[in-house]
Amino acid sequence: MRADPTPRQAKLLKIGASPRPAVYDGSKGVYLSPSLAQVGKRPSDLTEWLNLLAPDIVRHAHQEYVAAGSQIIQTNSFNGTRFRLQPSSLDSRVAEVNVSAARIAREAAGDDVLVAGVIGPSGKLPAVGEVAKDELVAAFAEQASALDKGGVDFFHIETMSDLEEAVAAVEGVRSVSGLPVALTMSFDAGNVERGLRSMMGVSPKALVDKANELGLFAVGANCGLGLEGYQSLVRDLIESAPTGLVIAKLNAGMPKIEGGRTVYEASPASMADYAVWCAHKGVHIVGACCGSTPEHIEAMARALTREL
Ligand SMILES: [Zn+2]
Repeated sequence: MRADPTPRQAKLLKIGASPRPAVYDGSKGVYLSPSLAQVGKRPSDLTEWLNLLAPDIVRHAHQEYVAAGSQIIQTNSFNGTRFRLQPSSLDSRVAEVNVSAARIAREAAGDDVLVAGVIGPSGKLPAVGEVAKDELVAAFAEQASALDKGGVDFFHIETMSDLEEAVAAVEGVRSVSGLPVALTMSFDAGNVERGLRSMMGVSPKALVDKANELGLFAVGANCGLGLEGYQSLVRDLIESAPTGLVIAKLNAGMPKIEGGRTVYEASPASMADYAVWCAHKGVHIVGACCGSTPEHIEAMARALTREL
């Protein structure tokens, strides 16, 4: 027999029933990297270090996104599989990194905001034999189990480019948790007119078909091409008839190198236009990825409240 849903589960189930999309948060990794210097790390080091060394910094970033109007925030755990943590010698601390990521987000979210347990790519592709599938599933299961223990409301497998790896992540999560699973891929190759593809050649339609087959809670795109081409990408996703909710969490423009620094050029106003456009097309959850800040999310949340 199924237990009654908790208030947060009920909130999650209600997304999609409203004409106004739920506002997700913005960049975590790119936004947090400058703070690594405060704990004696380089900007290129994993921001997951902050979960262990400076949880206040991570909690503050979450709080900024909540204050900006995010109804969903994501854990700082993009690199949380043992494969990604290994080069930083954090692979013996997978549980600690992910439990703390989830707890810090939960503290900032309280009961009003939902927490997505983020799982990013492992960096190993099963398609080219870099890793055995069962090893990959086990690594995702290990991360998911810790995020679940830390109190996330659902899982968000994101920035995937390979469908086989994405399926391994879903299997890993489902082997340890009954929470809903969302999957987004990064579409940054192909052609805006003829259709965008992931780096590994996956089309939005192939992703949606797989998500439907797996019965995922939500499906969509994150990171990738940013505002360049998002309209055709979102149209492709919607026209592929997903049975779950649709997520758009794109970058704040294309990264450009200026004076040795990576900068993103989309203004809060242009991200607000993107959010409203997505809402009119039927996207259920809209947020932003690399280059975005609480300022972008605030502009998006305001525009959605005003226009819908
Ligand atoms: Zn991104």
